[in-house]
Amino acid sequence: MRITASQYHTPMEDTIFDRIIAGEMDADIVYEDDAVVAFRDISPQAPIHVLVIPRNRMQSIAEAPEHDAETIGRFMQGVALAARKLEVEENGYRVVLNTGRDALQTVPYVHAHIIAGRKLGWPPG
Ligand code: 5GP
Repeated sequence: MRITASQYHTPMEDTIFDRIIAGEMDADIVYEDDAVVAFRDISPQAPIHVLVIPRNRMQSIAEAPEHDAETIGRFMQGVALAARKLEVEENGYRVVLNTGRDALQTVPYVHAHIIAGRKLGWPPG
């Protein structure tokens, strides 16, 4: 039997990102399709700072092996499509997936940061 992603949904309290997906909380949405929603970060760290989240919930990218490739693939494609919509492809952009405590993940709903619009430092702190 094929295991579907929904069987792996982590039981947890609704996060702010669950509420944005459900349309219960306002967000400045810049791109969306049937797999992802992309919206501006409330506390931008660069001129362009957008968060991309899959509609199919998971806590962090660490759970990717337990999800189907379609969910993960559409999430990554959603990141690229959101960046395309933001017209940052030519100058470039950074994609960040903070994962777990040491990486300072503060919202337990997987989200990719798209950071762009200025020259970025490396390595990150
Ligand atoms: P993390 O630190 O978990 O990788 O990133 C969480 C991000 O969510 C932070 O950059 C933070 O500014 C952003 N954030 C937290 N609450 C809200 C909110 O209510 N709306 C939006 N648009 N972004 C939020």
